[in-house]
Amino acid sequence: QQTAQSRLRLINELRGALAGNQFTVHYQPIMELATGSIHKAEALARWQHPVLGMVSPARFIPLAEETGMIAEIGDWVFKESARQLERWRESHNAGFQISVNVSPVQFNNSDCMCKSWLIHLQELGLPGQSLCIEITEGLLLNDESSITDKLIGFRDAGIQVAIDDFGTGYSALSYLKKFDIDYLKIDQSFVRDLVTDPDDMALSEAIIVMAHKLGLKVIAEGVETEEQRKLLTVAGCDYAQGYLFSRPMPADEFEKMLKASRG
Ligand code: C2E
Ligand code: CA
Ligand code: CA
Repeated sequence: QQTAQSRLRLINELRGALAGNQFTVHYQPIMELATGSIHKAEALARWQHPVLGMVSPARFIPLAEETGMIAEIGDWVFKESARQLERWRESHNAGFQISVNVSPVQFNNSDCMCKSWLIHLQELGLPGQSLCIEITEGLLLNDESSITDKLIGFRDAGIQVAIDDFGTGYSALSYLKKFDIDYLKIDQSFVRDLVTDPDDMALSEAIIVMAHKLGLKVIAEGVETEEQRKLLTVAGCDYAQGYLFSRPMPADEFEKMLKASRG
């Protein structure tokens, strides 16, 4: 009963969180392994609760999805990221790209964000390629043509698409052929034991080989050690993201890191 109550309270508080300016976006660099350069980052939502402190997205995103509030929160994360993106493309690298997580619920929504996001990018003078959306395999297994049409609309505008947590879903690989996907993100669960578990190494290598044969790039998630970085580099992985390089951080810190990395 206590759990149910605290859940209800959190839902209620979530409703006021946007208006109360309690959300921020943190950015985690995505490193190009061959060059060590950073021209991509993932945007991750953060909820600074006035009493509970930082509430993990793993806790509040599912609540936001259940209640439909994800549409509003997702829009806000996108707009905030686009605002930073415009700055960083000007000050750091004209090719900079930000990845935004998009929940399947945002696609199912009748007033899908697809059109309004494209208009917003245009207004900021940002090309489609400056944005990547991270979706999960489940979305592509959905046969509803409305969803695939929306996705194709994004693609036509040049927006890139990454499959998040790759390898943990249904593994109906035919969708990789059907949709024009740009990146596979190897799930953290494979990267974690890369050094000690030969099966995880084999799976990661297989994902990389398959992706490259299909013309896709690979991003490894949750890279925490130098050994993992080395193994992934040798296996030909294109990008890596994880605590080894940096935790997700607020925009101002991220900007300092970009400046420093330029030397
Ligand atoms: P995700 O998209 O798979 O994001 C990666 C998660 O791994 C992030 O957790 C990140 O902080 C964490 N991480 C990064 N590097 C490492 C590492 O080296 N080791 C470990 N152990 N973890 C690492 P976070 O920020 O807590 O987000 C959790 C999930 O919440 C995300 O998983 C994503 O599914 C969801 N999420 C976050 N922000 C948004 C958002 O704006 N919209 C939607 N729809 N979902 C979001
Ligand atoms: Ca993600
Ligand atoms: Ca992931």
